[in-house]
Amino acid sequence: MLLALVLASPPTAHSQGAEAAPNADSNADSDWPVFYEYYPPSTLVVPEHEVRRAKYPLVDVHSHLFEMADQDLSEVVAEMDELNMAVMVNLSGRGFDRVANPDGTMRFALRGGDYLERAVKNGRVSAPGRFLVFTNFDPNGLGEAGWLERTLAQLETDVANGAQGLKVYKSLGLGAVDAEGKRIAVDDPRLDPIWAKCGELEVPVLIHSGEPAAFWLPKDEHNERLFELIQKPERYRDPERVPSWDQIMGEQRSLFAKHPETTFVMAHLGWMGNDLARLGQLLDELPNVYTEIGAVLGELGRQPKTAHAWFVRYQDRVLFGKDSWTPSEYHVYFRVLETDDEYFDYYRRRHAFWKMYGMKLPDEVLKKLYYKNALEILPGLDRSLFPAD
Ligand SMILES: [Zn+2]
Repeated sequence: MLLALVLASPPTAHSQGAEAAPNADSNADSDWPVFYEYYPPSTLVVPEHEVRRAKYPLVDVHSHLFEMADQDLSEVVAEMDELNMAVMVNLSGRGFDRVANPDGTMRFALRGGDYLERAVKNGRVSAPGRFLVFTNFDPNGLGEAGWLERTLAQLETDVANGAQGLKVYKSLGLGAVDAEGKRIAVDDPRLDPIWAKCGELEVPVLIHSGEPAAFWLPKDEHNERLFELIQKPERYRDPERVPSWDQIMGEQRSLFAKHPETTFVMAHLGWMGNDLARLGQLLDELPNVYTEIGAVLGELGRQPKTAHAWFVRYQDRVLFGKDSWTPSEYHVYFRVLETDDEYFDYYRRRHAFWKMYGMKLPDEVLKKLYYKNALEILPGLDRSLFPAD
């Protein structure tokens, strides 16, 4: 009760909430923790199994190295070895650059020129077979004369230079604007030639659309991602000003349906990790769609039974992804996927303030998640890095 009252006050000063709470009783003078500081160490005594190394060699299909062309990769490779990560897919093959707008403000843009080619080469020279690179395109300016021709030519060149797929950032559908300054829908028909080209070149498209639905919800005690919206206020999506979650994810679904010849990997479980039945329906209807678990482990670890059954049912459609390269965080992934441990910590409270439980996936399901499904859709993978069966 008191925690809820504290929550109702601005999350600034430590004690301010308790003082301001209207019905604070005899504890009114106490220095109560605000809700996001309340995280008592567990006193539960149960078996614990830390997993620092994946049971099978792993392909991480959702990673980002933003300086891969010029980076010394030896440290990354050593860390990958410790995790039993055979291959990292760097989705940021075109890196990022800061460029000036006409008005002097700065924005991020993709790197042009031979950046991607150098990134691919660096991977091949430093650690043959251990890195795959996806290319990117910037949807801003769609509709300008020559935009489509330029973008298609770049895509073909990048694939010829070793890119193994296309990663689409969430800006498509959320912020990117066309030549007229209008928001570009995820399924904008003017982009159709790009998705068709990926099908033709037989490279998958890993696409991140939208955000967790909670980012559109009121910032109050009913919002499961409130802590994140306090820590990262810019992530809030004002429903008055931006299209709804349903709109954006509906556009993504329509894109998948329009291009059955193209293989898509829907990033982050399509932000449906909290409703796996709904996600399963989408996969049932769209056989060209796979998904991956980057940054959404917290959803799985709170429903180990439902998630276990779902992973068994959809074992051919899910890939391993993580998103941010922090090696120790993979241990939590492995623990949720491989053990049946109970009530242990996740690594980022703004994703999940609740505890994790292990799903203990069957070996065959784990193998598919870790590498077999990746082998199906990424023909550039070196098969010799994985068990033959
Ligand atoms: Zn990502």
